[in-house]
Amino acid sequence: MAGKSKIEWCTDTWNPIVGCSVTSPGCTNCYAMSMARRIEAMQPGSHYAGTTQVVKGNPVWTGKVALAPEHILTQPLSWRRGRKIFVNSMGDLFHEDVTDEWIDCVFAVMALAPHHTFQVLTKRAARMRAYMSDPSVVRRVYELACDMAVAMRLAVVLIADPAHDKFAPPGVRIRLGLWPLPKVWLGVSAEDQRRADERVPDLLATPAAVRFVSAEPLLGQLVFRQWLSFDQPCRGCGYAGALGGAFPRRDAQCPRCGIIHTTIDWIIVGGESGPGARPMHPDWARAIRDRCATAGVPFFFKQWGEWAPPSVLFADTLANCRLQARAEANPSLVHVFPDGLNMGRIGKRSAGRLLDGREHNGMPEMRS
Ligand code: SF4
Repeated sequence: MAGKSKIEWCTDTWNPIVGCSVTSPGCTNCYAMSMARRIEAMQPGSHYAGTTQVVKGNPVWTGKVALAPEHILTQPLSWRRGRKIFVNSMGDLFHEDVTDEWIDCVFAVMALAPHHTFQVLTKRAARMRAYMSDPSVVRRVYELACDMAVAMRLAVVLIADPAHDKFAPPGVRIRLGLWPLPKVWLGVSAEDQRRADERVPDLLATPAAVRFVSAEPLLGQLVFRQWLSFDQPCRGCGYAGALGGAFPRRDAQCPRCGIIHTTIDWIIVGGESGPGARPMHPDWARAIRDRCATAGVPFFFKQWGEWAPPSVLFADTLANCRLQARAEANPSLVHVFPDGLNMGRIGKRSAGRLLDGREHNGMPEMRS
């Protein structure tokens, strides 16, 4: 499973590691489980073998994770033009059973392909933070990248950072980029407030060029609290500074305690699709969109998913009432939120991705 993707915020997917296990409510209808099951059936003996099993008629992960064969592992190196690559759509790179050595391999490939942008998304934020904060990782990754470049006879011309020249084998001119890798975006999934409260602080403490949150499937109201604010006192020591607490846009260091004030650089919101999908109240998405607008953070509205609000189905002010009438005829096609808003089950394609009549395609600016 690699190559062109229909996911709106990337161009390609790349799956160097496959397999996973459910970890929170956002995993309940994990599309990757069903897809992995299909691949297992179509490609018996592949590295997907044993990653899923059927329980009560449904495919579920077994918890087995597997490293892809070399031609898949090194696939981005053969893509000449720069792509936006979602890494590991068929699992979680920071799953507890994925070894550090495997993650090193993935980062080594990413280090060797700085013409691509890599988007890594995890629900294991604490593991990602620990891995990225380990001072020995940069050495391991760059040594591995050098070995790969030599073995594959790659003509590597990368952003120079002389500090890393020492990792290259004698006589080999390979210059590797900065760490953390400038074209690797690291993100966490957060489907509700509890998961955001657990994962976003780890994300913000993770060394990364770009940090993002995917609130998909969004299962409840999610307030991004102080994570998008720049005008608050230092989170570490309370220092308010001469400007009454305003820290610059990102990565500003508190002059008193030294904490780096990182922020979220990008937020994706989406509803759930597929059988058993749960509806997303439009106000949950609107609140995040408006908060992003205030903070100047790019916002991407990916999709409604299976369920759409009345305005997507009917173009008049009686849309909610019309959906109510539909509910009386066929209750399974309508979901009623406690505030009386009706959502219609019309399928992902028909529901589309317009929020209040327009697309929201915000993306982080590329930083060098
Ligand atoms: S972490 Fe991702 S891949 Fe793993 S079960 Fe959950 S949704 Fe699926």
